[in-house]
Formats: sequence, C-alpha cells, structure tokens
Amino acid sequence: MQAAIYVRVSTEDQARHGYSLAEQRDACYRRAVSLGATSVLEFADEGISGAILDRPGLNALREAVRERQVDVIVVRDPDRLSRKLAHQLLLTEEFEKAGVRLDFLDFTWQDTPEGKLFYSIRGAIAEFEKEKIRERTIRGKTQKAKQGGIPIGFYVYGYSYDTETGKVSILEEEAAVVKNIFRWFIEEDLGVNGVAKRLNDQGIPTRKKKNPWHRMVVRQILTNPAYKGAWRYKGIDIPVPAIVDPQTWSKAQEKLKEARRLWAGKSQQSYLLSGLITCADCGNTMTGVYAKWWGVKERRYTCRKGFQGVRNSGCRPAKMILAAPVERVVWEQVCSWLQDPDSLVTATIEASPQAEELREELKRIEKHLKEVEKGREAVLDVLASGLLELDTQTKNKLGELKRRKERLEQRQKELMAALERIEGKAGKLEEFRLLAQEVLSKLDDLSFAEKKALVRTLVAQVVISGRLSPGKHGLAGVNVTVLARIPEPGKDGSIAVN
Ligand SMILES: [Zn+2]
Repeated sequence: MQAAIYVRVSTEDQARHGYSLAEQRDACYRRAVSLGATSVLEFADEGISGAILDRPGLNALREAVRERQVDVIVVRDPDRLSRKLAHQLLLTEEFEKAGVRLDFLDFTWQDTPEGKLFYSIRGAIAEFEKEKIRERTIRGKTQKAKQGGIPIGFYVYGYSYDTETGKVSILEEEAAVVKNIFRWFIEEDLGVNGVAKRLNDQGIPTRKKKNPWHRMVVRQILTNPAYKGAWRYKGIDIPVPAIVDPQTWSKAQEKLKEARRLWAGKSQQSYLLSGLITCADCGNTMTGVYAKWWGVKERRYTCRKGFQGVRNSGCRPAKMILAAPVERVVWEQVCSWLQDPDSLVTATIEASPQAEELREELKRIEKHLKEVEKGREAVLDVLASGLLELDTQTKNKLGELKRRKERLEQRQKELMAALERIEGKAGKLEEFRLLAQEVLSKLDDLSFAEKKALVRTLVAQVVISGRLSPGKHGLAGVNVTVLARIPEPGKDGSIAVN
C-alpha cells in the first residue's frame, strides 16, 4: 500500500506553540507504517499559513493523488490541510473522488455521515477561532487608538512615524511646505491649482520624489484635520502634533467650499453634458470651455487637461468639440427615448455585454447538459440490456455523470437568475413610461437645469471619437455615441429626475 504523509507548520505555530515539523513527520510516518504502508511519500509546507490553498507541498500532494500514486494520506489533523472549511471540504472531496483514504492522528475519522458532520463542524470551529483572533487584533488596534497611540502606519506628509513605538513627530522640512500651502491658498488666493503649480515651479519634491504635485494632493493636504492636531481613525480623534492653528485650518475649509460653489454654479449653468462626456481617443472626461478656436469663440468640450500634475493631458493637438451640436444630438436621443420608452430599455440591455456573455454561457451549459444526459441514458440502456454488469467502474462513471449534471444544473440556475436580474430592468419600464408621459407634456417648457437633470437620468455616458474637420460645420469628422441607462426607481417606486 502506498501512503503519503502531509505535514505543515505555520510560522505562528512554531513561535507560539513550539510545534516542529520533525515531530509531526515522525508521528505521521509511524501511523502510515502501522496502517500497512509499504512506502511513504512525504509532502511538507513549512512556515505557510493554512489559510492559503496554494502551497507547494499541498500542490505536489494533490498532483500525486491525481496520478494515482497514493492509497492513503496521513495528516495530524484537518487544520493541517487547511484552516478554511471550504478548502477542507474541497480537498476531502477531491481525495475521496480519487479513491484515497484520509487518516488523521488527532481526530477520529470515519467515512460516515456522522464523521463528515463532525469533520465539518471541526472545520467551522477552526474558521471561527481564526475570525475571533482577527477580531481581537482589530479590537486591540482600536483600543490602542483610544489610548492615544497611533495603531497603524501614519504616513502623512509633514510627519515622521516610528513603526516600532507608534510615535508621531513633525518633520520640519515638510511641515514648512505644509504651512506655505495653507498660507498661499488663504492669503495669496492662489487656488488649489495655483498652489500645485508654485510647488512644482519651486522644485519642491513630493513624498514620492518623482511625482509632481497634483492638485488632488494639495486638496488632500488642505482638508486633512491632522494638520490642526486631530487625526481621525475609525471615528476616533487621535491627537498628533499640529502644524497649523485651528483657525487657519477652518479658513482653508471655508475657502474650499466657496470655490466649489463658484465652480459648480459656473459649469452647471452652461454645459448640458459636463461630467457625462468622454473622449474615446485619450480616455479623458471632456469639460466645457468657452474658447476661441479656428477664429470663433464658442462653447466647446475639450479632453485637454491643463492643470498641474495631471497624468493624462489629453489629445494632441487639443480636441475641441462644438458644444451646441453635440448637445443637440444627445437631447434628440433623450427625446426619442421619452417618446418610445421600450427603445431605451433595449438600448440599455444591448449596452450591457454581460447579458450577451451570460446568454452564451447558458447556451453552452444547456448543450453540455444534453450530452451528459445522453451519456447517462446510454450507460443505463446497456445496463438494462444485461450486456454490462454494474461493476465499480460503471458505478463510478454513473456517479461522475450525475455529479457533472448537478454541477451544470447549478450553474444553469445561477446564470438564469443573473439574466433575470439584468433583464428585470425591463420591469422598471412601467415607472419609466409614467415619467415619460409627464415629461413629454412639458418638454418645451423645461429649464436648463431640468433638462440637464433629465439628461443625467437617462444617459450613462456620451462618447466622442474623432475630431472636427477644420473649417467645416457642425460635427463633421466626429462620432457621437450616447449610452443609455435605466433610471432607478426610488423607494416608493417612482422615478425622480434630479
Ligand atoms: Zn482626447
């Protein structure tokens, strides 16, 4: 009889309990011999957590099982195989299917339903214990935070953090930059973009030396309460040394709010598609600009990003698309969806490639199912005719076909449920019809803000590819794709346009 032993110790086992691999190996070896093994293959994983399934020793064992080199596997306990119940079940099933017996040293294993239940519970408990350890660790961290220590890495510009002691101190050089950022923003009115530009112009390095200052980084610094001496960790304020006084910090917040209001007011008034429109050629979102281009000053959308530290500065030469004709195309599309709500539903379902993939997989599954059923019937026919005896091999074959059928049916069910979810969007059609009727009657009286809200409700994205042919009118040379979205009804089942 060919036996295999599998041994594993995690780094934690070794450190905490002094478990050694040699001890496990000897015990398993003795058991294998007592079971009548004529040769023993050994598989080991040292210092690897049982939460991971991909372990070199375990992989080699599974390979040996697949190649029918093993009759019995000896392991100290199920936890050696895996710390996860799902993985334990997977492995036992795999071994059982290959006709390999599992033998545990510290665990009475019986190949009975009771034994299996016991085994599952044992696995569930291991899972539970692990979860408890995790929970304790998290609790410990929060506890530490409450006591004023910094529980996890505090990597904030302007500070140094000692990973050993958790102590935070001010890095004078960076702190001076932080002070400047606040001063420039509040007193010199540079704006977030202007601050980033000045930092880059002055050659001041960021934490990641090779990155330039991006306006988002400047914004993050201006809004981080750590600089006024209170770092927030999971809802707890942890005191850290302040770099600016609380008044300065609050002033910066006010100014940021003000800037947001101004910006929102400006852009929302004049550009119907801001935030919705994307350039297919460079991938940037396109923003509204009132700019002179080819001699004409007009509203346009551009994918060009001129601000500091931007990753993708957009198409070159800059792509400038006339706003009015694009907005007309999109608006006409929205109106036609309102007139024919079913077309919107079709458009959304078609836009979802997922549905198509699911349908194809479903087709494949149904084909496989038919094949499996045919195979089963063929075996049963032969058995019924008495030409074949119901030997172990045939039994296994039938069992395998049955399991395969069950797996396929399971997947079929999942796919059908997923498809129903996607196509269930059509169910929202009724609400959408009501909305469409209401809106259609006052379509011509809608304010700009209402139009914009309506576009946002029905359009997921507008994609622009190509560029305007210079000197030509309208959208010559440009392709506009309008992607639909089904409006989500609110809790009361109605659709709000906002
Ligand atoms: Zn572009």
